[in-house]
Amino acid sequence: MNRSLYGMKLEEIMEALKLEKKFQARIVRDNLVKGVTDFSEMTSLSKKDRERLSYDAMTTKVIERQESESTVKLAIRLSDGLVIECVRLSDGRDRFTACLSSQVGCAMGCAFCKTGTMGLRRNLEPGEIIEQFVHLEKLGEEISHIVFMGMGEPLNNFTAVMEAIQVLHDPEQFNISYRKITISTSGFVPGIHKLTELELPLKLAVSLVTADDNKRSRIMRINRTYPLSELKKALISFQHHENKRITLEYCMLKGYNTGKEDAEKLRKFMSGMDALVNLIPWNPVEGMEFETPTDVEIRAFTNELKKLNINYSIRREKGRVISGACGQLASKIE
Ligand code: SAH
Ligand code: SF4
Repeated sequence: MNRSLYGMKLEEIMEALKLEKKFQARIVRDNLVKGVTDFSEMTSLSKKDRERLSYDAMTTKVIERQESESTVKLAIRLSDGLVIECVRLSDGRDRFTACLSSQVGCAMGCAFCKTGTMGLRRNLEPGEIIEQFVHLEKLGEEISHIVFMGMGEPLNNFTAVMEAIQVLHDPEQFNISYRKITISTSGFVPGIHKLTELELPLKLAVSLVTADDNKRSRIMRINRTYPLSELKKALISFQHHENKRITLEYCMLKGYNTGKEDAEKLRKFMSGMDALVNLIPWNPVEGMEFETPTDVEIRAFTNELKKLNINYSIRREKGRVISGACGQLASKIE
């Protein structure tokens, strides 16, 4: 099986395609970035090269496309037959965001998340991460932002995710500024420290869900290993280096984490930190016992947040119909 040409250095492209000159590899790479993977269409290559070259530039294939409102979800088959999903989100105007997966499934097993029910099948290769972006761009709009909020825990596949980010950032390739790339983690503390050490202006989001240690440990196993006190220390240290606002993803679960006390604990967790709380009313997953809070419950909670001067936003549940909303990604087809 071919290795993906996406993510290869110029020297590696030269070797894979048996090219003699670096400029030829550069032409190939420029075309790949534009989504052109067929050598016969790479018009700046010599006719000889166009006819000679044969290599599957991409290792993945879109097998299903679902659309609802402005959200598009793609199911993508990997070379070993496993299937992942990625989503293109739109703000309704001209801003498009790619929501990428970092793993097939996820080892974390958070009780409210569909991906967690799959377990971890395997990590994605850098090329497989980049190819998701390419497939999403081929939908026809320029994508300006990337969030690692698809399947998997990106900090558990650190090296591959960072390699992919280097390529997606590279001004000679996809040219997405670090500031427009968000890594979302369930709170894998050693990974947050490693990220801090890189000193890159990437954005960090944390799936907090609740600022109560007992409640968090009950529904997020990671909290049993890295409790809130350690998570907070890691976040403050990240912020100290990057000086960037952190997003705390707060998946709202009816009757579980939406009370006055929950707001107060959240306030306490956020003290000394510049953070925005992003409220995500739970998106239904079949077979799970949680429920989506009612509008009244959501409003009561946001009123408490307001009283405590907590900055928050509410994420509209785009893509629910196609199971493309947060926490609804899992591959049924294998
Ligand atoms: N593993 C990383 C990246 C995935 S992001 C992480 O957990 O941060 C997926 C986001 O969707 C997380 O913020 C998670 O809290 C949220 N989420 C998971 N299941 C959900 C559901 N059923 N409804 C709403 N949000 C959910
Ligand atoms: Fe994995 Fe994130 Fe889902 Fe938890 S919320 S199971 S860490 S993808």
